[in-house]
Amino acid sequence: MIEIKSKREIELLKIAGEITGATHLYLEKFIKPGITTKELDKLAYDFIISKGATPSFLNYDGFPASICVSINEEVVHGIPSNRKLKKGDIVSLDIGACYKGYHGDSAWTYKVGEVKSELSYLLKHTEKALFEGLSVIKEGAHIGDIGYAIEKYALEHNLGVVKELVGHGVGRNVHEEPDVPNYGKKGTGPVLKEGMVIAVEPMINLGTADIAILDDGWTIVTMDDAPSAHFEHTVLVTKDGYTILTKR
Ligand code: MG
Ligand code: MG
Repeated sequence: MIEIKSKREIELLKIAGEITGATHLYLEKFIKPGITTKELDKLAYDFIISKGATPSFLNYDGFPASICVSINEEVVHGIPSNRKLKKGDIVSLDIGACYKGYHGDSAWTYKVGEVKSELSYLLKHTEKALFEGLSVIKEGAHIGDIGYAIEKYALEHNLGVVKELVGHGVGRNVHEEPDVPNYGKKGTGPVLKEGMVIAVEPMINLGTADIAILDDGWTIVTMDDAPSAHFEHTVLVTKDGYTILTKR
């Protein structure tokens, strides 16, 4: 069942989303060559705690860190480590914050210093694909409309859309019904209603759509080692559109 959130729940989801967005803005300043992904994780933990929230992903299904940090060909779920960011890398931070039992979830891919133009292309168009998907959201639209818009945009730009991982509902659990795939057919899937809260999160590759999982059991990488980007917002469905809860 897809929950319709109450007024009170929406207020808490707004605060959780604001903390999530603020964590992104805070961490963005530290994304420079030489910083380790573990240092970013610690900064995220301290910031989220200082806001009266807790990191949604810490110990989620046993995930050993506060945020997911995925570099270059890593798609999602990278585990923070002693690896240092290098000039020319791209790095995806996936951040969740839980405030009074309600979650926000947002991912963004950043450049580490100057990057090759093909990487700028990937980031620009993955972010645009996210907003293409969001643009169709309103009461009465179908979940399939979102995936259709994302996939169409990505394919028009010659990019690979990851299909095995999908967006989701957000509430008392960071992952709730419904699944929100980044592909689909218009007019199919559950119908959106005012008061639903969903995370839309295209994961898009510069090469093919195929992915694999590393031996650590978490890190998803592209099969062809091509770079991958990830942009995600948690949004509230409204009568005429949507409100971004994880503004940055
Ligand atoms: Mg996320
Ligand atoms: Mg998510």
